[in-house]
Formats: sequence, C-alpha cells, structure tokens
Amino acid sequence: MIDLRSDTVTRPTAAMKQAMMDAEVGDDVMGEDPTVNRLEFMVAELLGKEAAVFGCSGTQTNQMGVRAHCVPGDELLINETGHIGIFEAGGPAVLSGVTVRQIAAPQGMLSVADLDGKPRVDDQHYCRTRLVCLENTTNIAGGFIYPLQQLQDVSEWARSNGLKMHLDGARFFNATVGGGYSPAEMAACFDTVSICFSKGLGCPVGSILVGSKPEIRLARRARKMFGGAMRQSGIVAAAAVYALENHIDRLQLDHDNAKQLSFGLAAIDGITAWPEQTESNLVFMELENELGTAVQFAAALKERGVLVGPMGGQRVRLVTHIDIDSSDIPKVIDAVKDCVREGFAERALTGSGPYSK
Ligand SMILES: *Cc1c(COP(=O)(O)O)cnc(C)c1O
Repeated sequence: MIDLRSDTVTRPTAAMKQAMMDAEVGDDVMGEDPTVNRLEFMVAELLGKEAAVFGCSGTQTNQMGVRAHCVPGDELLINETGHIGIFEAGGPAVLSGVTVRQIAAPQGMLSVADLDGKPRVDDQHYCRTRLVCLENTTNIAGGFIYPLQQLQDVSEWARSNGLKMHLDGARFFNATVGGGYSPAEMAACFDTVSICFSKGLGCPVGSILVGSKPEIRLARRARKMFGGAMRQSGIVAAAAVYALENHIDRLQLDHDNAKQLSFGLAAIDGITAWPEQTESNLVFMELENELGTAVQFAAALKERGVLVGPMGGQRVRLVTHIDIDSSDIPKVIDAVKDCVREGFAERALTGSGPYSK
C-alpha cells in the first residue's frame, strides 16, 4: 500500500528505533528524564526561546498553549480552517473556558487586514480577546507557507493590540525548509510554538510547546491537568532528538514529491490540482462531479493499492512523507489515471467495503 492519507502514518526507521532503545530515561514528572530534558533544551535553543515542555500530541501542546495564555471568558482568534478551532474536539471551550472566533482568510493565512478591528473593545458585555493562533504550514486550507514578512506584520499588530501569539506548528519544519527562513526567525513572531514530531519528522509519538519560562511553567501544569504528564518518556523523546538531527533537511524531498504528484494529477482530465501552489507536502485535488465523489474515488484507489484522504464532496488530500519514495509518485499517478479511465462512481456504489454506500 502507498499510504498518502497523512504524514501521521509514518513508521519509525530502524535507526530511530535504535535511538529509542538506547535512550537514557528517568521520571520526567520529577524532571529527571535526561533525554526529555535534552530534547526540551535543544528545541528551546533552536527556536531562541527560554523553555520547552514535551507533550503527547499536537492537540495537547496546542491546548496547553491556549491554557497558558488565557483564562475562562477569554477569546482566541484563528483562521476559519484552523486545527485548534475545528479538529480539537472543542478543547478551548472545555479545557480553558475560551471561545474561538474563526476568521476567513485567503489560503488560511491571516494578515493584518483580516485581523484588524476584530479584537473586542474593553466592555463588560464582551469576552476579552486575548490570543491569535496561526497555523504554518496551513493544513486543510491547502498546505501553504506564510511569508516571513506576513508573520512579522501580524506579530507586531498583535503586540500593539495587547494580544498573545500562538503558532500551531504541527508542520513547523516543513514551513522553515519550504519557506527559506530559520526556526528562530519564525519563532520570534510568537509567544508560544507547538511542534509535532509525529508528522513529517517521522516519530511514533510526541509534540513540544516552546515559549518563555513563565508560559512553559503554566503549560506544564496544564499538561498535568490534561493527563499528559508521562514518566520515562525519554523512550519517545529519543525519537524526537533523532528526528531533529536527521529528518529536517529531507523534508524538501517530500515537498518535491508533492509538487511532482500535483503536476501529474493536474494533467489528468476531470481532475483539478494546483501544482504551482503546492508549497509543502500536502497535495489537494478536486474531482469533476460526473466522475464521482471523493469517497468513491478513495475506495477505487484503495483497490489499486493507494490510500488517499477524502475531504468531503469532491476534494481529496494526498500527503507525502518519509515513507513515500519518489518512485511511488508515478505509480500513484498511473493508479489515478486507471481509476478515471475505468470509472469509479458505479463500481464503488455497488461494491463492498466501508465506502459501498
Ligand atoms: C496534526 C495536526 C495537529 C495535531 O494533531 P495530533 O494528532 O493531535 O498530534 C495540530 N495542528 C495541525 C495543523 C495538524 O495538522
């Protein structure tokens, strides 16, 4: 199977597993896991921040960030397609008593023009606008990478409006590698940054939140409260250390594969794709209605050994990652061509399996 559903499906390499086997561990809640301590130090230093705290998932480190900045009754501003607003099970409301205000933004990237005028005035009727959350790279908005200048402009605007800045950097290093700016340059625009190790970096588990010492202290308490403080977590932190040392530069290969895939898809009749705008490892395509739905398409491709992510309606997401080789790309394009030639709407409707309805 060529699995393009997400970069979360990656499996640890033999060398990564060896690093995990060799990890020195201790009780991290007691602050005694040397591998976790090393990881937190490494990432804080790389981003030019004071401190970091290791977490279980990107959802968790995002929610720890929200909690570190906000109190109940506060509001956060986020792009309409932002993960924190739609894919975290209402976490801000449940875990922090925070309301989420979703703002439309071209390509899911907020600019000062989108945000200006949005913070609520200081009045007893209103919640207190406290935090701006950005996503880089953007996920379902299209895998776009913010220009550094736009991040700097939003950051300056937020500070002059008394707002905090949080980055959902699930694909932080896809953004730095693809955007051509450094981790510290990007992190300087934010008070807190969340980074996933379990996506493009190829780790089995783990995320990290980076920020100032007082913010990370609050986030560490939130981690405990949310049930995410682990003990000998150096076992998994070792994978993250390994990935930071070995898997960042190779992300460019994933981006190149994604672009090549998008060009191949765009050349197929009945499919719309945007190769020129494919900036990272996320590829999006849309099917003409007559061909069938994204769910039917995914079912037909699965029969040909390719897994993709139907996004509802006609839209499909295909994600390149460390377990996808450049030699897989022509195979995927051929499988898609076969599907389109043979037709998939009828077959998927009458076939068996989870997508038969
Ligand atoms: C994957 C992802 C997350 C975190 O997901 P987890 O599965 O909780 O690690 C957060 N934000 C974005 C944009 C993501 O794509």
